[in-house]
Amino acid sequence: MSNLSTVGDRDSWRCWLCDEPVDPGASVNSDLGPSVDLGATTSKKAKKPAAGTERLAHRACNTRKGAVAPVVPWSPDLFVVDPAPIVATVERLGRKGGREVVARCSSRADADQAAAWLVDRLSRLAPGLAVTTQVEPGGGQFLLVLRAA
Ligand SMILES: [Zn+2]
Repeated sequence: MSNLSTVGDRDSWRCWLCDEPVDPGASVNSDLGPSVDLGATTSKKAKKPAAGTERLAHRACNTRKGAVAPVVPWSPDLFVVDPAPIVATVERLGRKGGREVVARCSSRADADQAAAWLVDRLSRLAPGLAVTTQVEPGGGQFLLVLRAA
């Protein structure tokens, strides 16, 4: 498993799915032990990920264990309405560019907080994707917009 230390070092020993630290010394057989996840594939048909898409995950978080698509949760500390699926949004922006409304908030402060959290989260989730956020008033709410730079 020499690959594990390479992927772990690149991801700073942090799980790409739950954003919590991974102990490099933990047993690879324990749920919180390190494992290499295949990361997000760019196509549903892709059986094998492109090189460089492997990510560090806790063994329990690793999506290889099931057929489910990877889920990166929004922080429970945020006040957001209709938050977009983070992995799918990042994948689309990385592929097509442009901008997407990723959540709605009832106050500008909530939207600013969500924007700051999202930028920080994406800096680890998708370090190769340059994004900016924007908060736009609309319909009595505040829209959180994510834009590929
Ligand atoms: Zn995890």
